[in-house]
Amino acid sequence: MAQFLEIKEAHKDALLFFRMGDFYELFFDDAVAAAEALDIALTKRGKHLGEDIPMCGVPQHAAENYLLTLIRKGFRVAVCEQMESPAEAKKRGSKSVVRREVVRLVTPGTLTEESLLEARRHNYLAAFAEVRGESALAWVDISTGAFRVMPCPKVRLAPELARLTPREVVVVDRVEGDLAELVSESGASLTPLSPASFDSTNATGRLTGLFKVDSLDAFGNFSRAELSAMGAIVDYLDITQKGRLPLLRPPMREQPAGNVQIDAATRRNLELTASLTGGREGSLLAAIDRTVTAAGARLLERRISAPSRTLNTIKARLDSVRFAVEQSRISADLRDALRKVPDIDRALSRLGLDRGGPRDLAAIRNGLEQAGTIAQDMPDDVPPLLADAAKALIGHDALLDLLDHALIAEPPLLARDGGYIAPGYDGELDESRTLRDEGRSVIAGMQAEYSAMTGVQSLKIKHNNVLGYFIETTAKHADMMLSAPLSETFIHRQTTANAVRFTTVELSELETKILNAGNRALEIEKRIFETLRHAVMDQAAQIGQAASALAEIDLATSFADLAIGENWCAPVVDDSRAFDIKGGRHPVVENALRKQGGAPFIANDCDLSADQEAAIWLLTGPNMSGKSTFLRQNALIALLAQAGSYVPAASAHIGLVSQIFSRVGASDDLARGRSTFMVEMVETAAILNQADDRAIVILDEIGRGTATYDGLSIAWATLEHLHGVNRARALFATHYHEMTTLAGQLDGVENATVAVREWEGDVIFLHEVQKGAADRSYGVQVAKLAGLPDTVVARARVVLDALEKGERDGGGQKAVIDDLPLFAATPAPAPVASTKPSAVEDALQDTHPDELTPREALDLVYRLKGLL
Ligand code: ADP
Repeated sequence: MAQFLEIKEAHKDALLFFRMGDFYELFFDDAVAAAEALDIALTKRGKHLGEDIPMCGVPQHAAENYLLTLIRKGFRVAVCEQMESPAEAKKRGSKSVVRREVVRLVTPGTLTEESLLEARRHNYLAAFAEVRGESALAWVDISTGAFRVMPCPKVRLAPELARLTPREVVVVDRVEGDLAELVSESGASLTPLSPASFDSTNATGRLTGLFKVDSLDAFGNFSRAELSAMGAIVDYLDITQKGRLPLLRPPMREQPAGNVQIDAATRRNLELTASLTGGREGSLLAAIDRTVTAAGARLLERRISAPSRTLNTIKARLDSVRFAVEQSRISADLRDALRKVPDIDRALSRLGLDRGGPRDLAAIRNGLEQAGTIAQDMPDDVPPLLADAAKALIGHDALLDLLDHALIAEPPLLARDGGYIAPGYDGELDESRTLRDEGRSVIAGMQAEYSAMTGVQSLKIKHNNVLGYFIETTAKHADMMLSAPLSETFIHRQTTANAVRFTTVELSELETKILNAGNRALEIEKRIFETLRHAVMDQAAQIGQAASALAEIDLATSFADLAIGENWCAPVVDDSRAFDIKGGRHPVVENALRKQGGAPFIANDCDLSADQEAAIWLLTGPNMSGKSTFLRQNALIALLAQAGSYVPAASAHIGLVSQIFSRVGASDDLARGRSTFMVEMVETAAILNQADDRAIVILDEIGRGTATYDGLSIAWATLEHLHGVNRARALFATHYHEMTTLAGQLDGVENATVAVREWEGDVIFLHEVQKGAADRSYGVQVAKLAGLPDTVVARARVVLDALEKGERDGGGQKAVIDDLPLFAATPAPAPVASTKPSAVEDALQDTHPDELTPREALDLVYRLKGLL
């Protein structure tokens, strides 16, 4: 208990998994919290200060699943292991307790286990640091080794967190309230660290030490805030991994100006990586993901979350996709080979942390082998990006050869039980294994011999972990075996309910031999494992590059597969201010319509090209006509193009986009406790303050969250600001028809509408976007489609007619409303009941269910059926 309390004291903010034999046990408040979170039994063990000690435990072999649940529920877990065997402890003194130490702190941002991670997503740990007015954000995925940093003013923190979606963010522990709120809004868990962790001078030492360089100059010229953030990450890893630092790639600075800026609200609205309901289903990512490797999927998510703003980069990526589209046969072969590529990055990181097993070595082997095949499949005349990738795939022959010879084809997950080193690789190992296996076959012979000797046919030699090898007979034969002369050979070990167990001198001698040979074999395998692990780690950087190259090839070929399958086109991206989309589609809505098997998606053009001025389309049209879809599809097309993908359109010419903004009027945000209108205004303000003349802005019914005239005025002024000050390319959907007059007044503002046709009082949506303003809003017809009671629809028509007439006559609203005929809602007549009951009804009338036997009930069913 003293030992427990001492260790717990040092890890107050984590649940302490205290290893006791085959279990991790939790005590006191930890036990109460864990028992509830894991839904396991809470018991007691011993007393402390006169009180029962609450306790619960999980078996060691199943601990990963429990860990996963606890981490998902926001806990941190300190894993405390036994550092010596009970025998070793005894040697130190008869009363010595087994030495225990926390070997690792498991937190959301520092996971490496396959079962705890999502294969196709990054798992980022981030740190935000402020040093004398400057601030920076650093982030790392320790499961792949990626390490990045960038300057990040506090106002940019929310959008960057929205882009990266880190699982955990480290900040200095004197953090003010609003920073904590920012982090928790991003969904990450917040971890405060002491200011010493953020000291930028210490940081330099930590980083040069970690990367074994004299100075950091080789990686870039970092500001103090950047050093501080990176240093905090390294220090936190040191704390959580207890000195065993993961394999990190050298830090790279990301240029904030290098990516299209997309804020959190826009990401949500456009449903880039998650749909509005929260899952991946229904998101852009889910609709376009054709990658065949986990690393490729992670790269795709990174590209979609941060499309490029650098023309050369975009063009180079599009060139690779074009190549893959044109050479579709080669591309298909590459994809077949890629399917067999395991998650090299994550295997490498586990090996680096000494948490890896034989299967991780096999992953490296299989990955490098496929890399070689893929390099061979790649023709010589590929575009530069693919040529670079191909280069990174070769040159691993020596390591591959080593792993190939040393490992069996499909090794087990854990090194513990051995059996993963291939026969023929190590003479000594083969010898020990032979000895062990021979022993086993001698035992099989022994069984026959003893059976003959005793005349007991059912006699068996068995093995278990408690007794080792033993001879078992049924209770019936026991007396004979227990008496002379057999009792001279057979030594009694155990009697169970059905069996009696014996050993012999001969058997136990043989067992010792087998055990020794087996242990020896295990030791040798362990030694070879370490040699192989070091051979891999020596080449970690090159292997990492090969893994990145494979991801790049996966992404290019999967974009090509998508482009061919969905009939997408290569966008033209240049330095102009064009935005000319012909036949654009919304990939997610199109998918959904296809699944429903109903009407096809109607493609639409959009031309926001702006040579000097702004270019804004003011879109009117009834609800449900397709305005939001049109708005979003154009933003998505720009985003996809700059992410390096083909786009869902017949043609697309896009002048480089710097920012994408998307807002939807009045969506509920009760969780954040702000009124919907307030949210709408805060978000609109952000656009008007930030959008530059290369931004693409889509605004969907801004102003709808307040009274008509307020809303109209705000929408009106917003559009004028976008036009005159921001000079953005924008799509503005509104139901305020009054605004359509702006098109005549402001250069570059045009009216567009989504066509509908009226048919016998109903509306039919054509989903076609045309130039011009909508003639009316068809709200009443849409309400009818939605199933509003007929009486209400009819009444709404009367009110609408009166209002419109009043407007035409110049009478004003008040007069109109006063003149309205009274609401004459006659309740709809009840459905007329048919007067004569049917034969079936008659029969049922006479039935008394409680009195029926099952047999009669069945007869009744047949009779009723006959009456139909
Ligand atoms: P609005 O914003 O005008 O209320 P939405 O954009 O939400 O309308 O579209 C409503 C529905 O109409 C969508 O869910 C989709 O099923 C269908 N739709 C929208 N655009 C198209 C299109 N171009 N072709 C076919 N169906 C469409």
